[in-house]
Amino acid sequence: MIDLSEYTKELSKLFSSSENILLISHINPDGDAIGSQLALYQYLKATGRDVCMMAPNHLQEFLKWMEGADQIKIFIREGRICRKMIGKADLIVLLDFNQSNRLGEAEDLVLASHARKVIIDHHLDPKNFADLIISDPSKCSTSELVHELVCEMNQGQFLNKSYAEALYVGIITDTGNFEYGSYSSRTFRIVADILESGIEKEKILNLIYNNFSSDRIRLQGYALNKRMVVMPEYNTAYIFLTKNDLAEYNHVKGDTEGFVNMPLSIKGINFSALFIEKEGFIKLSFRSKGHFPSNLFASEYFSGGGHLNASGGEYSDTLENTIEFFLKVLKENVWRFEDKI
Ligand code: 5GP
Ligand code: MN
Repeated sequence: MIDLSEYTKELSKLFSSSENILLISHINPDGDAIGSQLALYQYLKATGRDVCMMAPNHLQEFLKWMEGADQIKIFIREGRICRKMIGKADLIVLLDFNQSNRLGEAEDLVLASHARKVIIDHHLDPKNFADLIISDPSKCSTSELVHELVCEMNQGQFLNKSYAEALYVGIITDTGNFEYGSYSSRTFRIVADILESGIEKEKILNLIYNNFSSDRIRLQGYALNKRMVVMPEYNTAYIFLTKNDLAEYNHVKGDTEGFVNMPLSIKGINFSALFIEKEGFIKLSFRSKGHFPSNLFASEYFSGGGHLNASGGEYSDTLENTIEFFLKVLKENVWRFEDKI
């Protein structure tokens, strides 16, 4: 855990000395990327700052209802306006990521910008491409970290309804609705404050979790029934989905979200992988229980990264070859499971 007061003085100074603040979340933004971005946006707006928002690519449907989400400009769709925002910004805050390639097509432009840059994030091993890096992997979500920074800067609580909703979305999505072990007693103290602020908890939970298409649920059934391979000898299971599988179930972006977590509920399975066939490459997601460093596995073999227990990467080969390579490196890394077996 980091001492936030060390950072908030500098952050406050940066906020108050900047004319145009730009908040950027990562490519394929998840609930925590958008939650932390919108929460900070609400705070900065309430304190009279001039602030705008951008994401490298589209938000998923289940996040679009959030207040302020329609203000987030999408780089791959609204290039001209995004370029203008980047050019005009004198402070850029990067939320929920710590590697510049997570800026997608906006990477070069953002890196070349003369704006001062701040990273606020909770992933391990931040890369140094900002003037100030506020990184705390002990936080369950960037949203939790943003809230603690805001409280420290504000000498108390700041909780308007949209801010509280944004935090809540960030926290529930990054903890799997309090299923993964990443939350702490601190998280629940924050959630208690959020709930006391009068947010409509059931409405939000329904918008996030009970909003699937029937195709998506059927794809989940198919993935578990026909595309899951369980290897008890390696405490591992994986699911793979081909382009045809996805087409058959009218796949839309976000439909496979959460699939990678499911094999972990099998007794004895500590490591799970999901392979999704894309155009020219395979997208991988990893989840682990306990000490297996899924992020190292992702960065060493699949040009990726992430958290100890939740990570991802990609591999430029066929699905078949990718799975073959995965099995080979899995066998070489089985010692990392040793304390779990
Ligand atoms: P997911 O499996 O939900 O797509 O990603 C889980 C986590 O893994 C993300 O929060 C992110 O930290 C990390 N991650 C996923 N894909 C990539 C990737 O291609 N590169 C890097 N560096 N991290 C990734
Ligand atoms: Mn996050």
